[in-house]
Amino acid sequence: MRVLITGGAGFIGAHLARRLVQSNVAVRVLDNLSSGDPSKLPPEVSFNRGDVRDVPKLWSLLQGVDVVYHLAALVSVPASVLYPREYNDVNVGGTVALLEACRDVGVKRVVLASSATVYGDQPRQPVTEDMPPNPAVPYAVSKMAAERYLFTIGRLSGFETVALRIFNAYGPEQPLPPTHAPVIPLFMQQIIGRGSVVIFGSGKQTRDYVYIDDVVDALVSAATAPNVDQEIINVGSGEETSMMQLVEQISATVNARANIIENREASGGIEHLVADLTKARQLLKYKPRTRLSEGLRKFYELDPRFNVKAGAGKVLTQ
Ligand code: NAD
Repeated sequence: MRVLITGGAGFIGAHLARRLVQSNVAVRVLDNLSSGDPSKLPPEVSFNRGDVRDVPKLWSLLQGVDVVYHLAALVSVPASVLYPREYNDVNVGGTVALLEACRDVGVKRVVLASSATVYGDQPRQPVTEDMPPNPAVPYAVSKMAAERYLFTIGRLSGFETVALRIFNAYGPEQPLPPTHAPVIPLFMQQIIGRGSVVIFGSGKQTRDYVYIDDVVDALVSAATAPNVDQEIINVGSGEETSMMQLVEQISATVNARANIIENREASGGIEHLVADLTKARQLLKYKPRTRLSEGLRKFYELDPRFNVKAGAGKVLTQ
């Protein structure tokens, strides 16, 4: 099997590429390196720098490709509020360009990395794929539009399509940008560095944190599983963790006390979001293997930025 991973030099993409290479899958990556790092890719991967909206480039990269993983996207919720046009251009425009090229070249299946943010606020938890989406931020709208284009163009053009709604993925090599950093690496850095951790809202808001290896299990399975055409499938841990519990767990993992600053005035986002995994179990034979405490320990021990094994406690930003 030959696959193309768009956005393959990013956090999820590089983990996926390494796993596929271990299984002797031929992997091509297309990434413009707006945030990715190609040094994370194994030498067996054919890396190509470029933009996912470049259709002629896609035509040549898609030759001989069976399955496309579409991961290239801008990924920050707060940044999408500031720059909705850019998020629309890359996340929606990039998806449409890719789908057009897939149609022209004739790939068999496209797997989209969609997002649990598409659900927004829902009347009940855990969320199931048949609930009407309620996106509340431009990033979520862009992912929802990408899903709709995926299914529409796939159906009209005769290739299979599946969208995985990934919840809060975390793990080694997760980017830690200077602004809008994801919560787990940010809190880990702040607690290790004896800085303050700011919690917005009540601290009781819950999320579903899923370890990177489990996300990769689902992505690998989505390439070949039967009966997934035109399906949306949740990929989470199925466990709900509040912001306060998360801080406690990270503190315990890194063995340091957290200096918590509570900002109750600010919004902590939606109150609850946790995945129902029934469909993932049925269609992908998905079973998350890593509990949060174990995933945090692995993240802490394996990520060189936290340098635990060297005993330096050094934290770098990326
Ligand atoms: P990431 O930022 O590490 O990876 C995205 C990659 O896309 C980067 O390497 C970036 O350089 C590349 N990219 C951005 N714009 C591009 C363009 N125009 N052309 C080519 N490449 C481009 O983020 P990630 O966490 O690895 O996310 C991967 C995918 O999974 C994204 O589509 C994201 O929306 C989705 N997702 C991630 C999570 C999560 O918790 N990490 C949750 C839900 C969905």
